[in-house]
Amino acid sequence: MDVTRLLDPLNEAQREAVSAPAGHMLVVAGAGSGKTRVLAHRIAWLLEVERIAPFAVLAVTFTNKSASEMRGRIESLLEGSARGMWIGTFHSIAHRLLRSHWREAGLEQNFQILDSEDQQRLVKRVIRELGLDEEKWPARQAQWFINSCKDDGLRPGQVDDRGDRSTITLLEIYRAYEEACARGGLVDFAELLLRVLELLRGDEGLLEHYRQRFRHILVDEFQDTNAIQYAWLRLLVGGGSPSRSWLFVVGDDDQSIYGWRGARIENIQQFQRHLPDVKCVRLEQNYRSTGTILAAANAVIACNGTRLGKELWTSHGEGEPIYLYRAFNDLDEASFVVERIARWVEEGGLRSECAILYRSNAQSRVLEDALLRHGVPYRVYGGLRFFERAEIRDALAYLRLVAHRGDDAAFERVVNVPPRGVGARTVERIREQARAGGVALWQASRELLEQRRLTPRAANALDGFLQLIERLDEETRHLSLARQVDHIRLHSGLVEHFGKERGEKAQARLDNLEELVNAARSHEPDPESGLEPLADFLSHAALEAGEAQGDAWEDCVQLMTLHSAKGLEFPLVFLVGVEEGLFPHRMSAEDPVRLEEERRLCYVGMTRAMRVLYMTFTERRRLHGRDTYPRVSRFVGEIPQELVHEVRMAGAVTPPVSLSDSPPPAEGGLRLGQPVRHAVFGPGVVLRLEGEGPQARVQVNFESGGARWLMVSLAGLQPL
Ligand code: ATP
Ligand code: MG
Repeated sequence: MDVTRLLDPLNEAQREAVSAPAGHMLVVAGAGSGKTRVLAHRIAWLLEVERIAPFAVLAVTFTNKSASEMRGRIESLLEGSARGMWIGTFHSIAHRLLRSHWREAGLEQNFQILDSEDQQRLVKRVIRELGLDEEKWPARQAQWFINSCKDDGLRPGQVDDRGDRSTITLLEIYRAYEEACARGGLVDFAELLLRVLELLRGDEGLLEHYRQRFRHILVDEFQDTNAIQYAWLRLLVGGGSPSRSWLFVVGDDDQSIYGWRGARIENIQQFQRHLPDVKCVRLEQNYRSTGTILAAANAVIACNGTRLGKELWTSHGEGEPIYLYRAFNDLDEASFVVERIARWVEEGGLRSECAILYRSNAQSRVLEDALLRHGVPYRVYGGLRFFERAEIRDALAYLRLVAHRGDDAAFERVVNVPPRGVGARTVERIREQARAGGVALWQASRELLEQRRLTPRAANALDGFLQLIERLDEETRHLSLARQVDHIRLHSGLVEHFGKERGEKAQARLDNLEELVNAARSHEPDPESGLEPLADFLSHAALEAGEAQGDAWEDCVQLMTLHSAKGLEFPLVFLVGVEEGLFPHRMSAEDPVRLEEERRLCYVGMTRAMRVLYMTFTERRRLHGRDTYPRVSRFVGEIPQELVHEVRMAGAVTPPVSLSDSPPPAEGGLRLGQPVRHAVFGPGVVLRLEGEGPQARVQVNFESGGARWLMVSLAGLQPL
């Protein structure tokens, strides 16, 4: 048999892994060393040389996209099809199993999958039906609780509430949510995994069937599997001795970046203890990057204390130095990136060879803006473009209503966001009224209220909404555009609403909302348009969101977060915003465990680059509502100096727009517990103070309406 096609493109260690006799295998190796390639060749080897039926192979990848790429690679190696082979993410495989065994799994035949937004809506409904206060029991928090329980394999009855009142209530919600799912034939993402685990555990015959069937299970990116996924794998290979099925996993402990989502690095270490006779292969040659990029990435990751420890080398030449650019601010950073991409394309490169990687989602806004302005097609990989993100659309909807009450789409979007008790039935009544009278929803609401045709509860809630919009309009009419946006961000309730969710995702939403204020600040109204600044800004936002994303065949620059870049490679990479506070993220800098995960993320980012790597940082960035003057990230300092070349651009710096928008100083004189009076809300007491200067906020408990956050500079509070 001619196996040269399968083995020739491999080095010695890779060949050893690919052609190993049946057995458990662990390949631990650094970035770009060919782990994914080894996995593909191993599968081709099994099918072609070992004559294993495709049917008996199960391969797990980290994204659906990488699954289809992997299948393509295998089929090109085989010059034929691998029909019958299962390849997909843990979720897609679980889904497939449940479709075949819905009955045994206790599901309806046509069960539906809930995505994360649907799930949240359902949780919200459950909370309402339980008669719980939605303010005290935000749906996002309950959703997070439910999913973490499921990720740890726990049903409500298996969670120890330790007599804690809040846990008891969350469990009550979890239980009611499960019932609602069962009634509606609904399955969420975490449920897919847990359901399969329970299915296999509870059904001896079925488990035996799959153990017989899947003789070879192969997993890419093994370092990021969570507890339940690992439990699955162990169950499927069985503990029996001698084993009949084999696990072949490849991973890199230095690239474990999903600890915050429950991934367990320890799975790599435990693998050898849990399974008998694991063969371990290390790959040490990197084929992806130049010597310089590799040396730099190696030096950074060497600063982590907890590692399995490995070094990579390359036979590639040194290549170009790592370029470091100190930008004046984020606008300057973005123009620099666009200019370098233009240069790359001029020299014959493709746009799709360029990737811009950032730590947090909100950073994409300024970059997208610069790319759009220069007519450079781009695609946001694994995510939405800035103006299409849910929280941005919510905030824009408030702004749109403030600018124009007749905006029905905006009305529908936020009439009950954050939840204020305007239910689906009320909204339906408003629609009917609007239809009948041929008027806007706003006007129809007015009429329903005047004619007292709603229940007192619904009327109250709706009236509250109308008043809120009127108030926001009054309060912001004379403000500059940026302060208008900021005021509405704070007083619409969106910040509190999203702030209730926990974790990175919530933070990303809050960051995005702050970034919207920055967008408004740097917005230059079109003098020809004759529109008010707010209306002009809103049309700009609508146009940016509506801009078609380059179609699949268009040559596009790739934008993505560092997290979604895992496993990918690009000739030219920009790592932007390498600044203390942003990267490492301010929430991780103090905690040694999280700091190490940030450093791994940096390692992942740097090692995506094949030929050229740029790292950029700014001297000034608006972050969390304030101008900050960040220092360059400690990660840059960990790169040996001789590998780095600092780029200077003569005269390319533009004065920052934000300088022209200097707000008046805050009114001071407030302290905790101080009695104050507000022109509209009346008397109250200061509960909390936050921020400083023009950004200072104060929380006041008003005798009339309870606690409220206000901007000190705008609220005009009278100390009593
Ligand atoms: P990551 O850790 O980033 O997922 P990886 O270890 O999976 O990386 P691959 O993506 O498989 O690495 O390989 C990196 C690059 O090196 C790819 O372009 C691949 O085609 C190439 N490559 C891998 N092995 C060899 C080899 N033996 N000869 C030539 N090129 C190779
Ligand atoms: Mg890989």
